Amino acid sequence: MGRAFVYVIVGGGVAAGYAALEFTRKGVSDGELCIISNEPVAPYERPALSKGFLLPENPTRLPSFHTCVAANDEILTPKWYKEHGIELLLGTRVMSVDLKRMTLVSSTGETISYKFLIIATGARALKLEEFGVEGSDAENVCYLRDLNDANKLATVIQSSSNGNAVVIGGGYIGMECAASLVINKINVTMVLPGAHCMARLFTPKIATLYEDYYRAKGVKFMKGTTLTSFEFDSDKKVTAVNLKDGNQLPADLVVVGIGIRPNTSLFEEQLIIEKGGIKVNSKMQSSESSVYAIGDVATFPVKLYGEMRRLEHVDSARKSARHAVSAIMEPEKTGEFDYLPCFYSRFFAFSWQFYGDHVGEVVHFGDYEEGKVFGAYWVKEGHLVGSFLEGGTKEEYETISKAIQLRPAVGDMEDLGREGLGFAETVVSQPVVPEVTDVQSSVMVRQASIRVVVMEKPLHVWHAVTGVVVAASVAAFAYWYGRKRSRKW
Ligand SMILES: Cc1cc2nc3c(=O)[nH]c(=O)nc-3n(C[C@H](O)[C@H](O)[C@H](O)COP(=O)(O)OP(=O)(O)OC[C@H]3O[C@@H](n4cnc5c(N)ncnc54)[C@H](O)[C@@H]3O)c2cc1C
Repeated sequence: MGRAFVYVIVGGGVAAGYAALEFTRKGVSDGELCIISNEPVAPYERPALSKGFLLPENPTRLPSFHTCVAANDEILTPKWYKEHGIELLLGTRVMSVDLKRMTLVSSTGETISYKFLIIATGARALKLEEFGVEGSDAENVCYLRDLNDANKLATVIQSSSNGNAVVIGGGYIGMECAASLVINKINVTMVLPGAHCMARLFTPKIATLYEDYYRAKGVKFMKGTTLTSFEFDSDKKVTAVNLKDGNQLPADLVVVGIGIRPNTSLFEEQLIIEKGGIKVNSKMQSSESSVYAIGDVATFPVKLYGEMRRLEHVDSARKSARHAVSAIMEPEKTGEFDYLPCFYSRFFAFSWQFYGDHVGEVVHFGDYEEGKVFGAYWVKEGHLVGSFLEGGTKEEYETISKAIQLRPAVGDMEDLGREGLGFAETVVSQPVVPEVTDVQSSVMVRQASIRVVVMEKPLHVWHAVTGVVVAASVAAFAYWYGRKRSRKW
């Protein structure tokens, strides 16, 4: 016999932490909520592991980065969970789930039943063995997904001062770790399969700027190649890395960041899986009505793009968690999850944010010479769909995110590049034209751009036209005024 809870969250990472706080705000009662996590600590802000956690001086350590500190909210320590009557089962893996019986079995052998289940199992780091390379268990080969990995990496860093590190992979884990290794006085070579770092998001121009900076800090790049095998000493420690292009790199430390795989295995036979994640609707509800999925493991409808996406970003974990709890606790009051994809990273003194989608044509703006404040816009089918900004202020990041949500029309790419952030500022400073919906076609007249008035399908409603004309006049004034202001771009 086991225990019964109203709400059970499987997984105790970022999404679980934000869900817990939301449950208390929505009035969960003592003893109703249980969180089961195979990690030994309460939910924490995972992004800290590749940033403050790896600093040589005063590194960030728990409890300072438990959720929900990064959202400037309460820090949920184990004491907080106790005080709020939330059962936190740490160091406990969920071994099986029976969605029909609404029960699960934990690694302690306990059977737990629930009324609502929230899947927040996140993802795991892909292992080299999955690509045919042996050696992941060597004491100086490090991954970075959880606190155990981070502790191992921090220990190996300490014993590798002035030594050589090879970073496999040029995504954000690779980039952030490489920066931390340099700060720890370790010589770094990055091995990238593609032509440049952050290949899924960065344009060659953005990547070049960052890579040049890394080179100036002593980082070497080996591009267009992959790891094929390791050389080991008699203690099974890696001493060198062999690459497909025939090069061999000496290594005191290897960091592997080659992607992640969502933890769906407990549910694959029982729920619909799409794009590698658990398919949910706009309430984060899966194909089983009592089961919700949030964070990295969920594939949900991104309204802005009209398609299903699975995102691997902390902002999406936090917001999808809050939305799911709201949908469970206050179903009548909770609308559709209308999420704008957002991703950020920090390395060395750089800090950037990306909003929206990186598809279509791209135009760069800002000061790439100085490399302090610069960015890019992505335009698809004549509308702004994505924006990257390095070195912006809080207000500027807010501005680009609002502009992306409005999907303004773009007339001329060169003008857009010249105007840079000024374009987004002008767009968001315009009054919003009320939405007018043609019932038959569901085409909306929504945005009035500064130079292209967007009426994708002109309607007969005369006040809509009047509204657009008024908005366009205000926009024209805002545009003129914006141009008068002295900006670098
Ligand atoms: C080092 C690092 C740096 C990052 N930096 C950034 C960044 O700068 N910007 C950004 O946008 N995103 C970043 N991310 C991504 C971000 O952290 C994730 O998107 C976020 O953690 C997803 O939250 P989640 O709750 O879905 O999954 P997770 O936070 O991974 O939590 C899942 C939890 O479930 C547990 N679990 C899994 N299976 C079971 C089971 N069967 N039983 C019990 N427990 C289980 C796991 O152990 C884990 O504790 C980073 C990620 C990492 C690893």
